[in-house]
Amino acid sequence: MTLQRSWVASANSAETPFPLNNLPYGVFAHRDGTQPRCGVAIGDMIFDLYQAEADGLIAVTDAPVFDQPSWNKLMAKGSTTWADLRARLVALLSAQADPRPDYLVAQAEVALLMPFQVAEFTDFYAGKHHATNVGTMFRGAENALPPNWLHIPIGYNGRASTIVVSGTPIVRPNGQTKAPDAALPTFGPSKRLDIELEIGAVIGGSNEMGCPISVQEADAMIFGYVLLNDWSARDIQAWEYQPLGPFQAKAFATSISPWIVTKAALASFRVSTPAREKPLLPYLAEPGPMLYDIDLTVTMAPMGKAATTIARTNYRQMYFSAAQQLAHHASSGCAMMVGDLIGSGTISGPEPSERGSLLELTWGGTEPITLHTGETRTFIEDGDILTLEGAAKGEGFQIGFGACTGTILPAKPFPV
Ligand code: MN
Repeated sequence: MTLQRSWVASANSAETPFPLNNLPYGVFAHRDGTQPRCGVAIGDMIFDLYQAEADGLIAVTDAPVFDQPSWNKLMAKGSTTWADLRARLVALLSAQADPRPDYLVAQAEVALLMPFQVAEFTDFYAGKHHATNVGTMFRGAENALPPNWLHIPIGYNGRASTIVVSGTPIVRPNGQTKAPDAALPTFGPSKRLDIELEIGAVIGGSNEMGCPISVQEADAMIFGYVLLNDWSARDIQAWEYQPLGPFQAKAFATSISPWIVTKAALASFRVSTPAREKPLLPYLAEPGPMLYDIDLTVTMAPMGKAATTIARTNYRQMYFSAAQQLAHHASSGCAMMVGDLIGSGTISGPEPSERGSLLELTWGGTEPITLHTGETRTFIEDGDILTLEGAAKGEGFQIGFGACTGTILPAKPFPV
């Protein structure tokens, strides 16, 4: 596949994250306060889908789907409608089409909002390098991977209520912690605030309670993908996590990138999960490649200062795909819903520079990293800006995700 050309000039470059090949879906708001609306990114512009539907340019459903500032209604229509919409958008925006500049708005002139309403959020732990690194730090190299890890996509039920779009400031959490040498726990702002570099799968289908689905069916239910930062308070996590897993350490905030990159846009970047170290039970077998070759980076910038790239890795490092995770999630009979969000788990590669969290990059805070500014960091300080970026790289084009960024604000005084 090569770059597909559009009448939107800024979309015709190898550098833009949003060529015609991509067409990611978001929600934007004009700064004048008019009702937010759905749009599709093309080059440095957004094509206004609310207006296009209102004017009859897009008629892939019998009733309007873009009369609300969220993609849930379109997602619920299913894969035939998803494909029809994409084909219609390609036809409207390709270089052969009549230019319709009246429907464009510059991305720089609008605010990007949450692209969909999150029904429920589940976060997994499917990166083997990450799980091995964390396990080594917490339990020693001998017991790094829990005995279930190669058999089950391990996960926990997170909070949908605190999922926010890129750019939303993140308040440092308060919580209960206990220093290893302290007799008793204390309460206060987290001192070991961290990121987790993840990909989120946006679910556009559902299964009835009591009815499991196959991995193939799970793959078909995935509408698209976003970048996801599962902010984590390591000191709170270390004290609370046994025996039921993370709770407040991760409940305070999760950031996602503003554009849903569709499965269709990523189709030519599918790759298989790595070779199995233990055979999987049949219900988890992948019928085809269900991971994606997506380059990922993390940058850190003290407020007002230059950013430093602190990690580079790739989504293909995951041991389980989102489809396997979703099939596992439904395997008990758990009902999955349109708008569910599935976090991949932290994506780390085998090399030290490929680690997707500060916990790993600084080896539990014992090996500080040095930024271009000369400052050092173990964990995140107030005012630091953390940004995830990602793109699948083709021949002369890329499928970009846009940034997933957040600035850390000081903890709130706890009411007494
Ligand atoms: Mn996570």
